[in-house]
Parts: sequence; structure tokens; C-alpha cells
Amino acid sequence: MISVRQFMARFPDEQACRDYLFNIRWPRGFICTKCGEHKHSYIKTRNLFECAICKTQTSITSGTAMHRTKLPLRYWLLTFYWVASGERISARKISIILKLQYRTALKLLHAVRYAMHKADTNWLSAFWLPAKPTDHSIVRKAKLGLLKQADHFIRKFYGHISEKYRYHYFSEYWFRSNNAFNPDGALHKLITSGSMTNYSINEYRWTCSHA
Ligand SMILES: [Zn+2]
Repeated sequence: MISVRQFMARFPDEQACRDYLFNIRWPRGFICTKCGEHKHSYIKTRNLFECAICKTQTSITSGTAMHRTKLPLRYWLLTFYWVASGERISARKISIILKLQYRTALKLLHAVRYAMHKADTNWLSAFWLPAKPTDHSIVRKAKLGLLKQADHFIRKFYGHISEKYRYHYFSEYWFRSNNAFNPDGALHKLITSGSMTNYSINEYRWTCSHA
């Protein structure tokens, strides 16, 4: 995996981050979420894309895990990097390094956990759901084993956590254990997941018709 210094050199400023995320979100060029048009103008002062037909304004982060963020995109990419590198990264640590309020750092981390959840959701994720009486005994045993491992990870990494966010931490454990041996792949997955929207039907149509 590239060093944090190399990573920061790759993203020296906000424009570099925006260009990078643009290519992930709209690999075939801008598509209006509302009407599917690709002609647009760019409002530089506010970093918004305005559709030439319906005039809907979209930002690079709208509808993604970074929706309505006021944080620099570099902070997001750096947090994706830290998590993908396997480092233990708590809200307290982020708040100190990036000089953010604790609550802001916590929100940032939970959004990154959402990106982890989206990146690695598959049929196995159903193992996180509580065991049902109808589950086969092998499935129940596997579910309990996985929960035990996740709880151990959470205790070791974070100590006491709020019950409300337990599932978020499960997502983190799941993502980390799936990607522990491939940090480059993890980083790519995380940035892609964090900057993708769930396609609007218009974006989907346009993408299919130009495939
Ligand atoms: Zn439009």
C-alpha cells in the first residue's frame, strides 16, 4: 500500500479530490440525477453541476456517504485511507489529528462505516441478523461465533460503544476482516462505495443505453 505521504501527494488539494471522485461517480461524464441529461455547466464558486435542461444542481457528494458534508474532501479520503490500511482509528484520534470537534469526527466515522457496509454487503451479511428459531443449528452456531468475534473486536478497538450504533461497528468488523490482507483493494472499494450514489433511474438508463 502507498504511504500516507504518497497518498497526500496524490491528493494535494480539494480540486484533485473532486476530479478523482468525479471520475468514480460519473465515469462516462456527468449525468443529471433528475432527467438523465449529460450537458451541464459548472458553478465554480459553489462547486455545483447544473443540468442544461432541467437546471437541477448537483454536487459531487450529494446522495453519497458524504452527502451534505462541510468537511474538506481530503479529510474523507484520508479517513478512507486510514481505515483501509488496517489502522485503529477512533473518533477521538480523528478529532485530534484533523482538529475537529469530537461529534464531527464521530459523524465522519459513522459515514465511513456506512460506506463499509455498502461495500461488503452480500448474502453472508445476513449472518449479522439475530438468530431465528427456524435457523438450522449450524447457522445459529455460526451466527453466534461471528457475533462473538465482532464483539471482541469492538471491545479491543473501541471499548464501550453506544448500543444504537452496534450494527455500524459490526459493518466495520466485517469489512476489516474481509479486506485485512488487501489494503489497496480495501481502499479502492471504500472510496468507490463512499462516492457512489444508488443510481437514480435516469442515471441507470443513461448508463445502460451508452454501455
Ligand atoms: Zn436534468
